[in-house]
Amino acid sequence: MFFKKKKKSISKNPFYNSGENLVIYFRCDKCNETFRSHLRKYYDIAVDYAKGGSMYSLQKEYIGSKCQNRIQISAVFNRAFRPQTYEITGGSFIAEEEFEKQS
Ligand SMILES: [Zn+2]
Repeated sequence: MFFKKKKKSISKNPFYNSGENLVIYFRCDKCNETFRSHLRKYYDIAVDYAKGGSMYSLQKEYIGSKCQNRIQISAVFNRAFRPQTYEITGGSFIAEEEFEKQS
């Protein structure tokens, strides 16, 4: 079994804007455990000086309680916290409704 990096187009924005946070929902590709994560603006999603300070970037790794699979999420946002590119490895983004159904 192997995991390929998935490049997704921004057809549906998986980052839910919630005041001080962006909220994401995703699922482990290995065991199907579902996750919700609150990403703090300016903290988890920090100014990216490598990009001249005009963008924000996110770099996160998650390990669930059910298996050892690592889920890595990275993204670049503009100043309005809208994702320009994002990538998830080892997992898949799911909709909020999908998360609520399972918990
Ligand atoms: Zn898992």
